Amino acid sequence: MLRIASVEIIETKIPLKHPYRLSQRYGDVAFTHPTVVKVRTDDGLVGFGETDAWVGFSSETPEGVAVILKNNIAPKILGLDATNVLKVHETMEFFMRENHMAKGTIDMACYDLLGKAAGMPVHRLLGGALYDSLPIMGAGGGESCEEAAAAALEVKATGYHSLMVKVGRDPVHDAERVLAVRDAVGPDYPLILDANQGWDLASAKKFIGIAKDAHPALFEQALVADDIEGMAALRRSCDVRISVDESLTSFRRAQDAIRLGAADTFSIKVCKNGGIRESLRIIELARCHGIDILFNSMLEEGITQAASLNVALVTSNLFPWGHAYFSPLRLDADITTYSSLIRNGRVYPPTAPGLGVELLDDVLDRYVTARAVVGK
Ligand SMILES: [Mg+2]
Repeated sequence: MLRIASVEIIETKIPLKHPYRLSQRYGDVAFTHPTVVKVRTDDGLVGFGETDAWVGFSSETPEGVAVILKNNIAPKILGLDATNVLKVHETMEFFMRENHMAKGTIDMACYDLLGKAAGMPVHRLLGGALYDSLPIMGAGGGESCEEAAAAALEVKATGYHSLMVKVGRDPVHDAERVLAVRDAVGPDYPLILDANQGWDLASAKKFIGIAKDAHPALFEQALVADDIEGMAALRRSCDVRISVDESLTSFRRAQDAIRLGAADTFSIKVCKNGGIRESLRIIELARCHGIDILFNSMLEEGITQAASLNVALVTSNLFPWGHAYFSPLRLDADITTYSSLIRNGRVYPPTAPGLGVELLDDVLDRYVTARAVVGK
């Protein structure tokens, strides 16, 4: 038994190397605010967790996550056996409904501790890796057609296996930009178009009516998160595969998306979905309904990415092209050793016990905005 002795909650603010231009709803993003937790056990083992709340994307915020962890979650889990992940979940659920991102940090840290106690990586604890490596999906920028085409070629040259193009501003200009990217990268390079809630149904239809000629592999979250009916109407109206991201915050929302026929693909983000256990439940539900899984990412650091990677390695219903496993490379620094798992456009399974990454405290310290410890 590994009793939880303390929970340290670390708030951070980390710049992106280059600001990221998203839909008209989000604008340009220059910083990310990962919340890191260290769960210490009474025999000195430490498990790491992270979440990456983003105002406007998630209903949770970085500040809110920290307060809920400090006041409502950490005090209730002190003394529990960290390796009994189900019991920790039951306790959190009893005291705190929703708040999946806050609870997800504890879930990750407990799986990390379970793996460290067992001496094996989490993907082995979950049944064993199905893959030797996974292809990475890149992301390009560019405002004009020329800039977008040049950025796409750069991503392709880096060795990434597919490209996410951000849309969700002017539907006609965005569609022209997508066509320019298609021209530049050639006919077979998978393109994922993400509108990040930027449009109403009419604008989304206008866009995809033109952009369909670029044969996109996926069209993600054109409408606001709560409009799952609208996402279903969009899916019925076009032949392009539709994915839900902001709409897919929980198991309950996954059930809604399935019942309404709103998605071909689920964008799983392990922090958004409440950690490893909740993600696994949603993935299995999707599998039973013929829905595949794009492992997507927030602007997140290596703990969340490692948790996501461990889950992807045991997922049979994978989206067939790249997945978002290069997030720390877009940030000022990787606060963990995660980036060493990336080689030539692919990411490789961690071999170290637990989530399989170490936290680099000296790097983390540069970005800390607040710290609190609950327990001894
Ligand atoms: Mg998305």
